[in-house]
Amino acid sequence: SSDGLIVSFGEMLIDFVPTVSGVSLAEAPGFLKAPGGAPANVAIAVARLGGKAAFIGKLGEDEFGHMLAGILKENGVSADGIPFDKGARTALAFVTLRADGDREFMFYRNPSADMLLTPDELNLELIRSAKVFHYGSISLIVEPCRSAHLKAMEVAKDAGALLSYDPNLRLPLWPSADEARTQIMNIWDKADVIKISDVELEFLTGNNKIDDASAMSLWHDNLKLLLVTLGENGCRYYTKNFHGSVDAFHVKAVDTTGAGDSFVGALLCKIVNDHDIIQDELRLKEVLKFACACGAITTTKKGAIPALPTEKEVLALLKE
Ligand code: ADP
Repeated sequence: SSDGLIVSFGEMLIDFVPTVSGVSLAEAPGFLKAPGGAPANVAIAVARLGGKAAFIGKLGEDEFGHMLAGILKENGVSADGIPFDKGARTALAFVTLRADGDREFMFYRNPSADMLLTPDELNLELIRSAKVFHYGSISLIVEPCRSAHLKAMEVAKDAGALLSYDPNLRLPLWPSADEARTQIMNIWDKADVIKISDVELEFLTGNNKIDDASAMSLWHDNLKLLLVTLGENGCRYYTKNFHGSVDAFHVKAVDTTGAGDSFVGALLCKIVNDHDIIQDELRLKEVLKFACACGAITTTKKGAIPALPTEKEVLALLKE
């Protein structure tokens, strides 16, 4: 198709989700394997909506690594930028579903293959062909994937891609909260588009008030669009010239995993061929309404990837 390519960079892993809630990991009678990792979810969100997507990240040369690459390909996402590590294993996460509905994660990352991606292993041709380059920040935590991350961003930017950043804070993975904040803020002014959640806004500003002043304190001059997602309260948007909010859709949410990734994938799909949409408030609001509809649909089914909608499903919700 004539659609511009969206390259999503970072980690892909398998969540082992217990078949029952409210028990400890050791007491779980069984687990379901749920593929995930925010950047991989975004790539699949794009492809499911009919966009052109590639995922870049390292997997282990093991059963799980091949399973994940297969899931990307089945969903129409290019896996051409995925190296396989012969020694290290694919990243895994063990989830505890607490009785109150919250989730806790325990990670197998000591080190996992995704952390071992080196700058030399980057598929530069693929990165240079991206119209949008999207990334998270878990790959900033350790070397060598940190250097690979920084190089990939630079190559994409030099080739003219729009840079999209979702910090995707997973605090337990960082050595400390200060380190997380420092590293996230170190690359803050490289992005054109940044999406954070209300929780991340609080974390980054140290201010527990979710308001415009707090969001605008994170503004930087190179930024084109800052988004704050608010779950069932929709989202707020900030640009150099205007700001406002878009309401969420009323749906019966059963599992919010992947809603933010679905929202980002939808946004990127709609702006990849025309980055100027961001400067036009009416058109931007239409795009964000579409993205909120995507996020809403994703909450109505269990899991992240299985719940990501097609364009047809989104248009049906928009028509209601
Ligand atoms: P994140 O996963 O990054 O925390 P959110 O949970 O805020 O992101 O979800 C992203 C978007 O998905 C929201 O802006 C909203 O439009 C939609 N969404 C999320 N949760 C719900 C919900 N319970 N009901 C309706 N829409 C939702």
